[in-house]
Amino acid sequence: MSYRATLIPGDGIGPEVTKAAQVVAEATGVTIDWEVADAGEKAIREKNTPLPDAVLESIRRNKVALKGPITTPIGSGFRSVNVALRQQLDLYASVRPARAIAGEGTRFPETDLVVVREATEGLYAGVEHWVDREHSAAETINIITRKASDRIVRFAFELARREGRRKVTAVHKANIMKTTGGLFQTAFREMAKQYPDIASEERLIDNMCMQLAKKPEEYDVIVTTNLFGDILSDLCAGLAGGLGVAPGALFGEGIAVFEPVHGSAPKYAGQDKANPVAEILSLELMLRHLGEREAAERVWRAVWETIAEKKVVTYDLALPGYTARPVAPSSCSAMAREIARKVPLVDLSRPLPKPAAGWGATTDPSLET
Ligand code: NAD
Repeated sequence: MSYRATLIPGDGIGPEVTKAAQVVAEATGVTIDWEVADAGEKAIREKNTPLPDAVLESIRRNKVALKGPITTPIGSGFRSVNVALRQQLDLYASVRPARAIAGEGTRFPETDLVVVREATEGLYAGVEHWVDREHSAAETINIITRKASDRIVRFAFELARREGRRKVTAVHKANIMKTTGGLFQTAFREMAKQYPDIASEERLIDNMCMQLAKKPEEYDVIVTTNLFGDILSDLCAGLAGGLGVAPGALFGEGIAVFEPVHGSAPKYAGQDKANPVAEILSLELMLRHLGEREAAERVWRAVWETIAEKKVVTYDLALPGYTARPVAPSSCSAMAREIARKVPLVDLSRPLPKPAAGWGATTDPSLET
């Protein structure tokens, strides 16, 4: 089959990592007709807006987009493209898989979970004000609706069923926030009855953080409200190996946008140095969404094998601190070519290889902000 998808190269390292994903996409044999749409700095220069209508129209038309990171200009009056995109397209579900790859860059090599975050309301609804003229008191209102809670919880159960996952864990603070937390909890409990084939459980947010820091391998799909989801997504990205390898996806009604968790890393722009894996795994999620499961599995395997083999990896995956077996770093494009080379060759029937020198080291100093 062939598909048409919007491609937003983005800013900074965005054009390099999206190019890398295109090279890998081509190797899968799935024909994707990329409709390139510029948002961010190039769009500001050429069209005086960071998010031209043509970009939104392209995504609405194609229903699927692969996006590079976009720089949020500081103090220029332009708002964040990422926030605007979410609002304009009503991208209500933010999905972040956290899967450890070949044991590298993680203390938890068995981590394989997905965080599903409600992305339209909660404490991020933007309902906030100063209480007094002196700005000595402020209030942010936490808006939780039954409609949005039902929608995100159903999304999480459907994802679990589609991806063959076994359990959905709802995370809230209903013991303290009795109305907002309680509403989300009720929505979860009632929806869970419609999915008897999927196990369901609840955790309080504080306990969830402790549990994740001790035994993330016990969790599968996590569904939660906006602020908790924002924090848990990053926590889980860290557990699984860090920013350079963390993909993401945003879903609306009939629309999906795939993008890495990391930003535009301006200091590496144009140097062919950035790690392309997060963008390539965002492509993998896109292929799964399109129903191209074998192609997606091949991309995942090729990434895994490239990282496990550790012959052609970018600087951040090659350094001591990330790996117990440091090697000479390769470029972004070389790593993409290596992954693409492996895509048609991987043997899906064999178990995933583990790295030769045992599980990797534990920190990721190169990706600290
Ligand atoms: P960042 O993710 O760009 O960078 C954090 C650190 O990680 C830096 O040291 C960077 O060099 C490194 N890094 C990030 N991705 C890397 C990769 N693929 N390979 C190697 N190193 C990598 O975060 P930031 O510095 O806070 O943000 C930079 C810009 O990106 C800001 O304008 C921010 O608003 C934007 N941003 C955009 C998105 C998005 O488009 N979804 C997400 C986050 C940040």
